Amino acid sequence: MFGNHPDTVPLGETDVSFLDTTLRDGEQAPGVSLSPDEKADIARKLDTARVEYIEAGSACTGPGERETIERVTSLDLDATVTSFARGVKGDVDLALDCGVDGVTIVVPGSDRHIETKVGTTRDAVVHDTAELVEYAAGHGLWVEVIGEDGSRADLDFLERLGRASFDAGADRVCYADTVGHATPDHTLAAVSRLADLGPTSVHTHDDLGLAVTNALVGVAAGADLVHGTVNGVGERAGNVAIEEVAVALDHGYGVETLDLTKVYDLAQAVAKATGVSLAPNKAVVGENAFTHESGIHTDGTLKDDRMYEPYPPEKVGRERRLVLGKHAGRAGVEAALSEHGVDVDDDELSAVVERVKELGDRGKRVTDADLLTIAEEVQGRERERTVELLDLTAASGGGTPTASVRLRVGDEERTAAGTGSGPVDAAVTAVEAALGSAGGAQLDSYHVDAITGGTDAVVTVEVEMSRGDRTVTTTASDTDITSASVRAMVDALDRLLAHEPERVLADD
Ligand SMILES: [Zn+2]
Repeated sequence: MFGNHPDTVPLGETDVSFLDTTLRDGEQAPGVSLSPDEKADIARKLDTARVEYIEAGSACTGPGERETIERVTSLDLDATVTSFARGVKGDVDLALDCGVDGVTIVVPGSDRHIETKVGTTRDAVVHDTAELVEYAAGHGLWVEVIGEDGSRADLDFLERLGRASFDAGADRVCYADTVGHATPDHTLAAVSRLADLGPTSVHTHDDLGLAVTNALVGVAAGADLVHGTVNGVGERAGNVAIEEVAVALDHGYGVETLDLTKVYDLAQAVAKATGVSLAPNKAVVGENAFTHESGIHTDGTLKDDRMYEPYPPEKVGRERRLVLGKHAGRAGVEAALSEHGVDVDDDELSAVVERVKELGDRGKRVTDADLLTIAEEVQGRERERTVELLDLTAASGGGTPTASVRLRVGDEERTAAGTGSGPVDAAVTAVEAALGSAGGAQLDSYHVDAITGGTDAVVTVEVEMSRGDRTVTTTASDTDITSASVRAMVDALDRLLAHEPERVLADD
């Protein structure tokens, strides 16, 4: 059973692995479709993160899906690559054609599925499943049997199905909370019974917000393989997020599973490919998971990194961020200023803090560029801009989107044009071309918020750019998204290249 965090008996010697089904269950999320390239890229990243089983798709879906599964099997990954298969021989044959290492055979588990969905009987399900397991195992496949809707199934029947599957040669059975219905105590009872028969997996969904809890309870009950998806993408409220289970197992129970330093990269790749963006407050991989704004928290964090964090961000390949807003305090503001090489005396610091809080009170996030501008004003410093936008034109009607920009860099005027997938992309390319490689700055993140809802909405673009070990965040608002994007980017470059026009010009 569960140890009590943090000092008592942990899950101990438990060996837990993951079966990632981002490419199958995850892709079944509304509006998600992954290209073969995206699936191959995600599969490679899963393998790098040491996910042991990758469900690459469902071979019966169609020729396109089979081609994609073949792409994944041909990557020669360390992971065992599997296909989803319904309880029919044809599906197993199609999976075999794709060269997978294994199949997850899904058969009806609850009477609702047995009678209403498939129109069969419990006896027939047990008989047919055993026959199919024998067939698949006989063809050298790793075989897992899932009784679909297991959390609403009769436990005696699930046990009977499990026993028949093992007798027929299945490698493992899986307890599936298909509709995210189960409570932790039910999960404990059901998984305990299956785990007595042989190796057992858990497949949990988050409809009640219990996916992680149920996965952990499943492990405590004896399951040693957890099904899940990256970021928890999946049907309805989604599957359990593998990165959350992996971190909880590591932090709470000392059970090592994935290479945690890879999960953030994985999360970003999946968010981008699926178009399902991460909530800022998402555990482990959300933007705010290691961001501190409030004065009290920032002050505490500056005294001791661990003050307001359960585990350090580096553990999951991330960095801590201290941001400024309405709750800013002196310590946080002073630390942010000194990071940009700005020294202030006590009175100046008070004035800067006041102005930062004013901005924050208006609901604005105070960016680095805002802070530096405030400090310049408070200290009465005149700053010569290094990079300035003089002119921007963008066109996207008909052909390839193009844009041209005129910039002043130091004393020199530069013009450049660019093309891209859209006007913003073209304009960004043009700015990069105008600056040349000597800028050496890179765009780390790009984020758009519409402030109002209409087609005349003012949008705010926030960019984060870095150069060497300096990072700056800037924003610009406009009704024209291209203009806002370029202005935010030019402001960021201006901050990053401040006092270095000679070098920028010389290097080019
Ligand atoms: Zn599922």
